Amino acid sequence: MRGLVHVHLRAFRPVKTAIVVGGGAGGAAAAEALQGHFAVTVLEEGRAFRPYRTSLALPERCKRLGALVDARMIRAIFPAMRVRKAAGGMMLVTGHGTGGTTTLATGNGLRLDAGLKRLGLDLDQEFDELRRLVPITTGHRASWCEPSRRAFAACEAMGLGPEPLPKMGHHERCEACGHCVLGCPHGVKWDARQPLARARAAGAVVREGWRVERLVTAGGAAKGLVARRGLRRRFFPADAIVVAAGGLGTPGVLQRSGIPTEPRLFVDPVLCVAARWPGARQDLELSMPFFVRQDGFLLAPYFDYLSYFFDRRWTPPAGDIFSIMIKLADSGTGAVAGRHVTLRETAADRERIERGIARCVEIFARLGVPARALFLGTLNAGHPGGTLPLTAGDAASVHPPVLPENVWVADASLFPEPLGGPPILTIMALARRVARRVAAAV
Ligand SMILES: Cc1cc2nc3c(=O)[nH]c(=O)nc-3n(C[C@H](O)[C@H](O)[C@H](O)COP(=O)(O)OP(=O)(O)OC[C@H]3O[C@@H](n4cnc5c(N)ncnc54)[C@H](O)[C@@H]3O)c2cc1C
Repeated sequence: MRGLVHVHLRAFRPVKTAIVVGGGAGGAAAAEALQGHFAVTVLEEGRAFRPYRTSLALPERCKRLGALVDARMIRAIFPAMRVRKAAGGMMLVTGHGTGGTTTLATGNGLRLDAGLKRLGLDLDQEFDELRRLVPITTGHRASWCEPSRRAFAACEAMGLGPEPLPKMGHHERCEACGHCVLGCPHGVKWDARQPLARARAAGAVVREGWRVERLVTAGGAAKGLVARRGLRRRFFPADAIVVAAGGLGTPGVLQRSGIPTEPRLFVDPVLCVAARWPGARQDLELSMPFFVRQDGFLLAPYFDYLSYFFDRRWTPPAGDIFSIMIKLADSGTGAVAGRHVTLRETAADRERIERGIARCVEIFARLGVPARALFLGTLNAGHPGGTLPLTAGDAASVHPPVLPENVWVADASLFPEPLGGPPILTIMALARRVARRVAAAV
């Protein structure tokens, strides 16, 4: 009888509540792993994501008329993409809405946890789990454009060891529409709406349009948080809070809550080197089909919509441009203060960019395009992080000591160093580890 009462009481024990801030890579992975241990609510500032399905003829016409003058105007064309200009001039690209920046990602899935491993953080278990949850393929050569095939062969001949990029999704059935970074309209590319949907199916609630302003803390713990939707402001109580608002959003939430972050920020700057190539049709290719690893940067074919729409050197038609991206890990000398972001290119960053440009010039020369025919794109950056870096001391707990006892961070803010490559899988592995610790601790 006593046993029965015990079981009965356990069954009706109130379920603890967890709030996850942000519905991107980290937030979705944490929500999926937490739901069941907690009743999870995800608060996402943006709206439900919708891929860009309409023709690009209208923005092209606006460009021809000279109406597209600033990359920050991209949200008028594609509301899920946000560009902000950092002090120092660099354009920062992030996603806004369910799925976060993953909906705009090119789908590359690489494990890049060497820096975390050096701290003693072994994420093998979480990467194994992700292998079962995220389909990855390199079987997408059928949708490469002709110049990319030739560039691959040229890189092989130059001994650069080009590798097809592993893509998250089912890219073997890619429809070659070229819209990867505008949201795959064919459901081929994986994005973080998938783990979010699984969390929802298991009972999690995803509330869109809620911007988290600050956490409410007392006695070293959070009681909940204050979020705003339009003119409505509301207090959400919570037993545990996981902040995963992205490398730029998370430091803002923490700072507004009186929790200090480090005066540093790293990003991965991107610069494209392009040429006119009649009939290239790279605009219809899946983004970044292969890559070449170099000392301090990587190269990959990439049609850069930001440059195409907003850089006067990139003239229509889109189908007659072929471009190669240089991507590098910067020196991490940036900072986030609320909404204000500072990023300054250092001499070391410039030196790597110059080496990248020189390598692109060599590749284009092999393809018969002389250096004088090349033009650059707009310097922009993604992959922000590093404002609350884990140390060897807190790698096991994944809980930096400045955080209240029931507040956690689950995004690239925790990375000790820039990755210089695609961070989604590593963010999700880390977020799943954070979720594990939250479930054990609360
Ligand atoms: C063009 C582009 C291509 C990319 N391609 C790749 C790729 O191929 N592979 C790869 O691994 N990575 C890629 N990335 C990077 C990758 O998408 C991001 O690094 C990753 O999504 C970051 O995950 P996150 O959860 O930290 O943040 P995000 O995915 O950005 O999610 C954060 C979410 O939090 C929300 N938010 C912010 N502030 C608040 C607030 N106060 N309250 C509530 N919600 C808030 C945001 O709206 C957003 O939805 C790419 C990035 C860009 C810009």
